[in-house]
Amino acid sequence: MTFATLGLIEPLLRALEALDYKTPTPVQNQAIPAVLAGRDLMAAAQTGTGKTAGFALPLLQRLTLEGPQVASNSVRALVLVPTRELAEQVHESFRVYGQHLPLSTYAVYGGVSINPQMMKLRKGIDVLVATPGRLLDLYRQNAVKFAQLQTLVLDEADRMLDLGFSEELRDIYAALPKKRQTLLFSATFSDAIRSLAGQTLDNPLSIEVSPRNVAANSVKQWVIPVDKKRKPELFSHLLKTQRWSQVLVFAKTRNGVDQLSELLQQQGVSADGIHGDKPQATRQRALDRFKNREVQILVATDVAARGLDIDDLPLVVNFDLPIVAEDYIHRIGRTGRAGASGQAISLVCADEVQLLSAIETLTRQTLQRIEEQDFEPEHRVPITDSSGQVLKKPKKPKKPKVVGGGGKKTLGKWLESDEPAEPPVKAVRKVPSFNTGPRKKKP
Ligand code: AMP
Repeated sequence: MTFATLGLIEPLLRALEALDYKTPTPVQNQAIPAVLAGRDLMAAAQTGTGKTAGFALPLLQRLTLEGPQVASNSVRALVLVPTRELAEQVHESFRVYGQHLPLSTYAVYGGVSINPQMMKLRKGIDVLVATPGRLLDLYRQNAVKFAQLQTLVLDEADRMLDLGFSEELRDIYAALPKKRQTLLFSATFSDAIRSLAGQTLDNPLSIEVSPRNVAANSVKQWVIPVDKKRKPELFSHLLKTQRWSQVLVFAKTRNGVDQLSELLQQQGVSADGIHGDKPQATRQRALDRFKNREVQILVATDVAARGLDIDDLPLVVNFDLPIVAEDYIHRIGRTGRAGASGQAISLVCADEVQLLSAIETLTRQTLQRIEEQDFEPEHRVPITDSSGQVLKKPKKPKKPKVVGGGGKKTLGKWLESDEPAEPPVKAVRKVPSFNTGPRKKKP
């Protein structure tokens, strides 16, 4: 199968040729003809499978060949994404794929001034990529209208629900024309997503290019058991001894990100951190520098790193395991993309055994454990397997020693702190109710 035999028009083929995309990926093979035919879609695709082109290419084609010119403040296709970075990235894909087409594309998200976005929307936009919160703000200020909307794409839909966007989604849904094409993409498919799909899609084509909830198999994964307080030291040790080149590191909390990146900087390592508290411009700059290899280590929370596409990223390190097991799949999907191989190493302490067990159950694999000499944990990580069982009980953890207060932040001091600096993200997914019937009026 080629892009030409899938029925794509010449300006798109020209853009793909310049990108050196030779053959469509499996998700593209299935999604492109279905979207071109106007069908709804429910697609479970691993990260890095080329899903963005799977919806962007046929959408661009439909918008070019069909329908009226976009009216002022209107949009013809709306792509909802969970994070600002993903909004920029998806928008960039639309821009590149559509560079030879007479269509306008734009991305709106929070954390930056709304006025330039309102100005830009005045002329109307063919493809608008948006995060849900900012889109609603714009809608409520009459800066965007949906009367011309023909296609809605929900990208990383599971993540949008995880981030608590279910209310915003419901409000957006209520504002959209009922007759439209809806494409739902999600790397993982929880029951909440299936329920959302059931209520908003019209006889959708189901695409599942990889087994449900299985982690990218091009990524070699293993666990290094270690005591919690020795994680930073182990990280620095591995960085040196393994001669790691470029590493994306995931930490659980914003504080964790700041502390690890500052510590690495103190050690003379070129490191930066991104999380939701940092201004958008700072996040984007850190990301661009990491992508351009000007920074060796990027430490990130799940929210900030979601959906990022970084060329040839060789290694992902889970400094902390994610609280929601499905995030593990997203995290390790940052490496091993587009056919390349990658590695994912998790530094796991005894406290995290339940999280490890949940990941192994979800991915249906028991992760190999490789201890690092001189870092063998005092608190053993109980044995787990993919059936979800924790086979040996952990030892009772010792009470932490109280260390003196005040003074400079030292490695030791940080190591003593057991509490996350902010409440963990919610671990339980609620099944949101998507009421498609008449809505109550807002006061
Ligand atoms: P995605 O899963 O959409 O984030 O895409 C992952 C990566 O694969 C991106 O860097 C794309 O540019 C690249 N990609 C998408 N489709 C193809 C293709 N057919 N051939 C080669 N690379 C592709």
